[in-house]
Amino acid sequence: MLAVISGPSGVGKGTVIKEMFRLRPSLKESVSCTTRAPRAGERDGVDYFFVSRERFLQMIEGGELLEYSEHFENYYGTPRAFVEKTLLSGDIILEIDVDGALSVKAAHPSAVLIMIEPPDMDELKRRLEKRGTESGEKVALRISRAEYELSKKDKYDYCVVNEDVTAAAKRILEIIDAEKEVLL
Ligand code: 5GP
Repeated sequence: MLAVISGPSGVGKGTVIKEMFRLRPSLKESVSCTTRAPRAGERDGVDYFFVSRERFLQMIEGGELLEYSEHFENYYGTPRAFVEKTLLSGDIILEIDVDGALSVKAAHPSAVLIMIEPPDMDELKRRLEKRGTESGEKVALRISRAEYELSKKDKYDYCVVNEDVTAAAKRILEIIDAEKEVLL
């Protein structure tokens, strides 16, 4: 089972996914590559593989990425080999943006696309502003990107509102289990 989780920046995707792993340690998560700089506390090979632009372009050329997209002036992509190997034996979660999610669905039609939504847009804007890691300008960029991401939600198989982290994580696990029943 390949489950693709998207949601606007600041919606709490990372926290929900962490809770899913706590509840179900057998899940595997793909670690993406990015050309953006690490934020405080982020670790190479855990949060992302932090690579140079040159290396990223090489990976695109060499067909090493299942999908990639460019936003906030940086590239983000999913390493193909890990996903394809893991899929042979278990469930894998990709946390990627809407453009990447739609490319994955085109390549793997059985992938289940799940959008995490904020309880409301004002709350999301407050969360983005509170994230001290971004400049004022970047917050505005992320808000307009969030609006773009949410505008694509009708292309997703499921939408889950992140009112409560544990409830959202449980709901996504239920979706994965129900979809697996359909596949079997
Ligand atoms: P951030 O810079 O906040 O970590 O991530 C910015 C955006 O990039 C998020 O919407 C995140 O889901 C997306 N993203 C992270 N990894 C990937 C990836 O491998 N592929 C694509 N297409 N988007 C990604």
